[in-house]
Amino acid sequence: MKVILGHLYPEYLNIYADRGNMAVLERRAAWRGIELDYRPINLGDPVRPGEHDLLYVGGGQDREQALIAPDLAAKAQQIAEAVAGGAALLAVCGGYQLLGRFYRDRAGAELPGIGLFPLHTVAGERRMIGDVLLECELEPGMTRTLAGFENHAGRTFLEDGARPLGRVVAGFGNNGEDRTEGAVWRNVFGTYLHGPLLPKNPRFADHLITAALRRRYGDVVLVSLDDQVEDVAHKAAVARAGG
Ligand code: GLN
Repeated sequence: MKVILGHLYPEYLNIYADRGNMAVLERRAAWRGIELDYRPINLGDPVRPGEHDLLYVGGGQDREQALIAPDLAAKAQQIAEAVAGGAALLAVCGGYQLLGRFYRDRAGAELPGIGLFPLHTVAGERRMIGDVLLECELEPGMTRTLAGFENHAGRTFLEDGARPLGRVVAGFGNNGEDRTEGAVWRNVFGTYLHGPLLPKNPRFADHLITAALRRRYGDVVLVSLDDQVEDVAHKAAVARAGG
């Protein structure tokens, strides 16, 4: 079995070790005998619908977001088709913001988003920085914690129909007001959690791998791994966030 992963703009959107998320997906797949076929998608490269099982886009400063936003907007239809075809997608911080309708940066410039999520983001004066702890429901009826680190000026507001990834227990989340964090739609996950996110949230990594495999192989149950180290890392991140 294999998962084809498309990494959007690895050279531009990669802060707070977001690239580390790729390493976790690769390892947790390999430990189950699943190959992760990693394919970078750069400026001008197409997103061929049907090619990818999983797409990923990381975070970046306003400057880097401005450099890629027109190219990402040009791929909006291709990404929407890939998602409609069952591809899963994880977007972190700056990448997450550009999955919405727009991101208005601190200079007031409005960067176009691809409108995959019904939300918009406006940068504020004070950056929202620190450890974050969420409660979320990746599987119906199963509440889990997600822990990570955030650093963003953008305040994201979910619009009608948008479902948050989680409820903020500690930290700012989407906007520091409504206690929502991130967004979920089908197999598309957006979050402000850096750190990187997946090393200390192995269940979320497995959730993404399972969603990616489902497109090609139907329902797959991943064998469980010995996650003692990951669980210690998760507990430490929860404690650091004040949980
Ligand atoms: N530049 C965006 C902001 O400041 C995103 C930052 C990030 O990806 N960490 O909100």
